[in-house]
Amino acid sequence: MVQHTLCTIMNAPSESLLVLASRNRKKLVEISELLAPHHIPVKCVADFPDVPDVVEDGETFEENAAKKARETALRLHTWTLGEDSGLRVDALGGAPGVYSARYAGEPSDDEKNNAKLLQALAGVADEKRGAGYICCVAIADPTGAIRLSVSGTCRGRILHEPKGTNGFGYDPYFLIPELHQTFGELSPAVKRHLSHRARAFERLLPKLVCLLSEH
Ligand code: IMP
Repeated sequence: MVQHTLCTIMNAPSESLLVLASRNRKKLVEISELLAPHHIPVKCVADFPDVPDVVEDGETFEENAAKKARETALRLHTWTLGEDSGLRVDALGGAPGVYSARYAGEPSDDEKNNAKLLQALAGVADEKRGAGYICCVAIADPTGAIRLSVSGTCRGRILHEPKGTNGFGYDPYFLIPELHQTFGELSPAVKRHLSHRARAFERLLPKLVCLLSEH
């Protein structure tokens, strides 16, 4: 029921249901909030118990986002949004990258991932702890064809100590230097404006609204 409330926006004018191909609840909250002003009827894949998890074996965020969208659309015959995101740390050659969710192994565990990240960055000076979040989004139509693909990024720096309890994943360590606050400290409303996810959706939404209104 809670899941349903998070993922379903009622009374929308469009007929085209959009299914979010993710089971990450905190990510779903952010995505639902980004979609809400556009009144697109949304459900999440967890509302369909028979749909198996998509194996994220792509080498890029783009591939994984497309795979999530395509496989879920083929299963449910609905418009589907696939999202893949993660953190790329400069001093680690872009790691954890596509492995961000399972950096410290499976099942995914934010605390263990953060501990591993800090260990990997031990001894790295502040000015060399630059990092970027990336978010890739793909939209598949009910036949599984990818119709839209966008990405967004957000630069920051990895702290030595966590700050704040908002957000999820690596957020308490991800400092936005211009604001002197981490994503863990910033309010959801501020994160909704400047995050990698916000930037990807800024590009996506005008095109998505047009696409869905044509069908
Ligand atoms: P995905 O669900 O396979 O796309 O994995 C996303 C992973 O990347 C999450 O589990 C986090 O570790 C990380 N990540 C992506 N976006 C964010 C964010 O906005 N804040 C914190 N961590 C994020």
